[in-house]
Amino acid sequence: MSHILIVEDERHLADGLRFNLELDGYTVTVLDRGEPALEWLATNPSGADLVVLDVMLPGIDGFTVAAELRKAGIYVPILMLTARNRPEDVLRGFEMGADDYLAKPFELSILLARINGLLRRREWLQRSSAAAGEPAPPATTQPSDSFHFAGKSIDFEHLELRAGDKRVPLTLMEASLLRYLVQHEGKPVSRKTILEHVWGLHEDTDTRAIDNFIVRLRRYIENQPAQPKHLLTVRGVGYRFIAEPSADEEKLE
Ligand code: CA
Repeated sequence: MSHILIVEDERHLADGLRFNLELDGYTVTVLDRGEPALEWLATNPSGADLVVLDVMLPGIDGFTVAAELRKAGIYVPILMLTARNRPEDVLRGFEMGADDYLAKPFELSILLARINGLLRRREWLQRSSAAAGEPAPPATTQPSDSFHFAGKSIDFEHLELRAGDKRVPLTLMEASLLRYLVQHEGKPVSRKTILEHVWGLHEDTDTRAIDNFIVRLRRYIENQPAQPKHLLTVRGVGYRFIAEPSADEEKLE
């Protein structure tokens, strides 16, 4: 049974969410401020399977809570509730380590779907083999559910990228995006496709959120992030992942 931590200061909303999530079989903890939420997660780092985090809180805001959690090495999936559907808030949420967002006011059914989506994505990432109906992993994906390329490896089970001695923890969304690109290795994928298949968003969301993620992923996996060899921009389309750049390209380095 999944445990959901709700950080929300609007009492009626928090109570409504608790009631409905408990009806759906979840265990729910509600906290109304960011500070006790950080304390709760610091003492139970794996106590919650997902955090529903309001941005506008008394005291420290939701952005700060997300950033502090990631800084503390706690990579629980975060669904952020934004008061205003401003692209800059959404981008800031992702930049601070949120995995998904929902703008208030929202339909309860949409929130439940997003929660289920995040929990499913977490299972999908942590599962060792792809289930029927999902894209088959490329042959280079190891049974241990890690992907090796150019002296680096992505561990999808432990949400970690390893490059030499360097270990970079990944958020669920970073790992999901990497996984999607790896599964479509060598092929251009559009920003819209990424939004739909990785974020699960069908509306016209600002695609700069994706560009932001790509910049971060390049910092993790590229030797020279400004001159990427693996995560290439396909002008007017989106991105393309190349596991092993050709020898000719290597010589140009
Ligand atoms: Ca609030």
